[in-house]
Amino acid sequence: MSCVSGVEYAWEQLVIATGAEPILPPLPGHELSGVTVFKSETDMVCIEGYVERGIRNAVVVGAGAIGVELAQALGSKDITTHLVDMVDAVLPNLADPEMTAGAIKELEGSGVQLHLGRKVQSLEGTSEGTTSQNSLVADTVSAVLLDNDERLPAELVVFAVGMKPNVELFKDSGLNMERDGIVVDGGMRTNIKDVYAVGDCVSYFSGITGERSGGKLATNAVPMARVLADTLQGGRREYEGFFNGSATKAGSLYIGGTGLKEAEARSRYDTAVAYAEFTTAFPIMPTAKKVKLKLIAERSSGRILGGQVVSGEPVTDKVDQLTMAVQFGLTARQLLGFSYSSQPWQSFYPAHNLLVKAAESLVSELRADTPAENSA
Ligand SMILES: Cc1cc2nc3c(=O)[nH]c(=O)nc-3n(C[C@H](O)[C@H](O)[C@H](O)COP(=O)(O)OP(=O)(O)OC[C@H]3O[C@@H](n4cnc5c(N)ncnc54)[C@H](O)[C@@H]3O)c2cc1C
Repeated sequence: MSCVSGVEYAWEQLVIATGAEPILPPLPGHELSGVTVFKSETDMVCIEGYVERGIRNAVVVGAGAIGVELAQALGSKDITTHLVDMVDAVLPNLADPEMTAGAIKELEGSGVQLHLGRKVQSLEGTSEGTTSQNSLVADTVSAVLLDNDERLPAELVVFAVGMKPNVELFKDSGLNMERDGIVVDGGMRTNIKDVYAVGDCVSYFSGITGERSGGKLATNAVPMARVLADTLQGGRREYEGFFNGSATKAGSLYIGGTGLKEAEARSRYDTAVAYAEFTTAFPIMPTAKKVKLKLIAERSSGRILGGQVVSGEPVTDKVDQLTMAVQFGLTARQLLGFSYSSQPWQSFYPAHNLLVKAAESLVSELRADTPAENSA
């Protein structure tokens, strides 16, 4: 039996899908009014309330996809918007710095003021309209203090610095849990018989490295739920692990990535990278936009470990091609034979394909660096 709002329900099989909640770091001043996080509709209504009240200054902390999208939305409402990240890049969990440099320009061009490589130290507040710097008795946020002593005025501060599994409820349940959530096997079974878990509340491993890995995405939660549906019907499907293909948009640029970033790959494997850059349509077409793709591979085998795309047009289809290569263990050499389509409005010239071109560059690099290794 379990208890929800005082009502008890009998169960024979229990599925836990309690998701994750945004992290609000316990910095001095985090309890001030006007300091919030962003996940639910309630959070959005709260933020909209500040916008409707006509605030002039906002700070978004965390330049991941959520922070980048939120900063642009606030900036578009004529609010002076600062975006702060302790990493010296935007979208650090999505793509490598050279692939996101254009996003920085786009954000700056759209009026978002970036503070990269900077940590938030504390939040300051006002009480009855009087600024009381460093005072925690104040009740409404008025400024954010950075680690270089810069003070950013703010009537609204939104933290978008990551998620933690929403599993507090189960802490004394005997469920096996780790930092990222409830431990499950490939069929989404927990360590307790007839209790299953899926989605953001689950801790699982990378489908590439086999190590425990963050993966709090809807595109991981839904496939987990499909595997669980199979398990509950007596099937034997196994969840393969996180590959973490995802995408966002900064100004006019679409940016996506999948698998390991270059630094993650280099810390585990002898790694090679290659790029290709074309246009999204025949270059003579008026709609043609630049598109750039990066491939990351294990040098010894040529196995694709990750990839990234930045383009003037949506990238999720290309990111998904890359994920397929990573997920099914394809090598750079196998990608040379990738069979593609072409049409003037929708692709570069038929003689070339972005993925194949990047694979050609990668294979050349693997050959150049290891003359005896021609079988990548
Ligand atoms: C702003 C934002 C943008 C995002 N954009 C993307 C994107 O573009 N692509 C992508 O793949 N992912 C995206 N995500 C991530 C995606 O939303 C999550 O990975 C996904 O929602 C996880 O699904 P879930 O069912 O595990 O958890 P949730 O969607 O969080 O659902 C969990 C539910 O359980 C309820 N719950 C929790 N505890 C209890 C309880 N004790 N009793 C009853 N109910 C409870 C919660 O209220 C919630 O409704 C985004 C997330 C955010 C915050």
